[in-house]
Amino acid sequence: MNVAIVGAAGRMGGRLIQAVLEAEGLELSGATERPGHEKIGMDAGLVAGVGELGITISDDLNAVMADADVLIDFTFPDVTLNNLEICARQGKMMVSGSTGFTPEQRGLVEAYAANIPIVLAPNMSVGVNACFKLLKEAAKILGPDFDVEVVELHHNKKKDSPSGTAVRMGEVVAETLGRDYSQVANYHREGMCGERTKEEIGMQTVRGGDIVGEHTVYFIGMGERIEISHRAMSRDMFARGAARACQWLKGKQAGLYDMQDVLGLS
Ligand code: NAD
Repeated sequence: MNVAIVGAAGRMGGRLIQAVLEAEGLELSGATERPGHEKIGMDAGLVAGVGELGITISDDLNAVMADADVLIDFTFPDVTLNNLEICARQGKMMVSGSTGFTPEQRGLVEAYAANIPIVLAPNMSVGVNACFKLLKEAAKILGPDFDVEVVELHHNKKKDSPSGTAVRMGEVVAETLGRDYSQVANYHREGMCGERTKEEIGMQTVRGGDIVGEHTVYFIGMGERIEISHRAMSRDMFARGAARACQWLKGKQAGLYDMQDVLGLS
């Protein structure tokens, strides 16, 4: 299976190149960056720090996709939507880890998924996906009496807040408790904002330094507290998850899938 990587010079780009090189059945066929990027024309392997690969970083995704079966895209929602248009036109698959989609943008991804297979997941790590399952169980057992708060920490270059993973965690708990996440998520407390409501799910964000990503969901009751935490120590497991999603996509019908599907947890 031939794999192209978009955003090859980004924080995830280099890790994705290494993961594809290590994954059975996957061949790196191309790499792109945004037009005007200083690494255009350079060898993708040298930029990723994995040695020369003979694959030049291009700014022409159309041409790169002619040789690829699947595109791995860890960029940003507007870029991902442009890339989906190219993949759909060429009948190619996509694995996207981009985060920060609005409900409208998510609707556009769903429309593309009518024609091509897409894996879209805010977090590709096995551990975080196990956490989603644990959160469902915890919310089921603890029920509505426990106050739920989500706290996430990331590096100071992250563009979207709260993280896509934190939002998904909040959604999983809300869905399990029969609440509408968009109605109960509380992103901001300041001044005389009143007592906490029973239904709300607090979403707190910390940004600083080089933190790869940490998430904790607190279930806070009277006299006791449960914390479900995940700490990412490197970006490699996100990249390995994306490579695993590419392998899993082989032979799949058009549709929108996530890592729960890839890992057999859904
Ligand atoms: P980054 O800014 O380091 O990398 C993004 C790269 O995309 C940059 O090199 C940028 O130049 C490139 N790019 C932008 N526009 C482009 C275009 N039109 N064509 C080609 N390349 C283009 O960011 P990052 O830390 O690597 O994160 C990227 C995305 O991945 C974010 O949305 C982040 O939240 C997400 N992420 C997801 C997971 C996951 O497991 N799903 C894990 C980590 C990061």
